[in-house]
Amino acid sequence: MRWTAKACLSLILCEILVSLPSCRKRTPVGAPPPVRPEEISGLQQELQKPYLELFEISPNLRYSKKQIDSMREYLQKGEQYCLDQFKGHAEKYSAEIAQVQKELKQRGSAVPEGERHEMHCKIQQLRVLESQATVLSQSAIPVAYDNRLARLDLIESWPVQVQTIKGDIASGAYGNRRWGNVKDIGFREIAPNQRDDIRAGEEAIKQMKQSGMSLPEVKDEAVVNYVKSVGERVAKHSDLRVPLHLALLNSKEINAFALPGGYLFIERGLLDAADDEAELAGVIGHEIAHVTARHSHKLMKKATIAGIFYQAAQIAAIVFTGGVAGIGTYYALQYGFYGLGLVLNLNLLGVSREYELEADQLGVQYTWNAGYDPTGFIRFFDKIATKKGYVEGASWFRTHPPFYTRMVDTQREIMFLPEKPNYVVTTDAFKQMKKALVKMDQAATKDEKNKPLLYDYSREEGCAPPKKFEFEPNQPIEQLCHSPKLVRVEQASESAAQPNK
Ligand SMILES: [Zn+2]
Repeated sequence: MRWTAKACLSLILCEILVSLPSCRKRTPVGAPPPVRPEEISGLQQELQKPYLELFEISPNLRYSKKQIDSMREYLQKGEQYCLDQFKGHAEKYSAEIAQVQKELKQRGSAVPEGERHEMHCKIQQLRVLESQATVLSQSAIPVAYDNRLARLDLIESWPVQVQTIKGDIASGAYGNRRWGNVKDIGFREIAPNQRDDIRAGEEAIKQMKQSGMSLPEVKDEAVVNYVKSVGERVAKHSDLRVPLHLALLNSKEINAFALPGGYLFIERGLLDAADDEAELAGVIGHEIAHVTARHSHKLMKKATIAGIFYQAAQIAAIVFTGGVAGIGTYYALQYGFYGLGLVLNLNLLGVSREYELEADQLGVQYTWNAGYDPTGFIRFFDKIATKKGYVEGASWFRTHPPFYTRMVDTQREIMFLPEKPNYVVTTDAFKQMKKALVKMDQAATKDEKNKPLLYDYSREEGCAPPKKFEFEPNQPIEQLCHSPKLVRVEQASESAAQPNK
């Protein structure tokens, strides 16, 4: 997981993101948004419901095939419309940038310094808007629609699926599934020679340290020890055969990732996003599963060790500057990604569609075996995809299997696991941690305002903050896609400098 979701998902939103009615110019692009047929408005409500609820209620829902097909068509058209809009925006911003650059070049030293400053500011802001539009069209919008379509598929297919699952349970056939031997967790071999990965993980971390950058770890010992204790509990009930090294990074990103050999990184934002201990344990279980199954090793067989170093240096650079998401959505978007998750090499993290499904399965087994409510993973995943922001969470879902497959496979696995009494959902220690986190977040927010910008070598200082962005934090996809408006970037001295415009 790359709850890299996210990146992580940056939760604290700058005041500058508040939208102001500065949008003077409306640009109609292509066809109007699709109109929802009347007969599917009830179905529309169902698609807002959490996956866990849909697993429960879908066998009793009565929607006709025509309604389902009609909704699917409506969603597909909506996605295409939305993608076209934001692709169009990106092109327009790009053209505007070129225009200002051209003007700067033509007028050369004749441009007064004040005006030059304003033009630089304008380019800067247009670049932000352009990369926002690009992030939206390349990852966030597809993620949001995949999430909606998966719910529709679930409503359509789960009632039949659940009968098959119950049949498999009744006949005992479920025991023959891959890694069905859950009573032997800890004594079975998911992938041989786990220990061989320790060196790769150590090298990556050594490289970070050698480059003179220290990872900003959370200093609050109680919080760190708490997270480590959850990690240890899951690890003890897993197939892990290497020591677990868990580090808590002081970054706003909603993310967790494992390097080869048992080096697990959890970012502060993930603790913010988790609502109970079972959710946190679910994420940790998933990451531990990537290690026990040696996914990174399998993917990196052909990769060079230099590749690992390069990745490590990137991790260091980003974490050192506070994390991309740590700098805030505004700047993160400027670079077209949200955090570590989008920068890290997927091979290094062992992420591929097939391996994600395996990590989901094993991770749920480990959290279940540790006594946690195994549905915590589904709840967390759903929340990141749906509420916390399909935009900020985009990196979490990068190259991940379709939502439908992930959710259904995970639910099936949970149903196959022997029920345990008294699952842990949350603990007092979790609640204590959340209290400590509030203070930490406040301190970090203050701190982040003064952080240098990642890769932003040529930043123009003293520009007025942008009045509007392509995306408002926590904006629902329906709202985002319904009538996307191009943002008009003002140039303070524009009217004075260009009276003819
Ligand atoms: Zn994963």
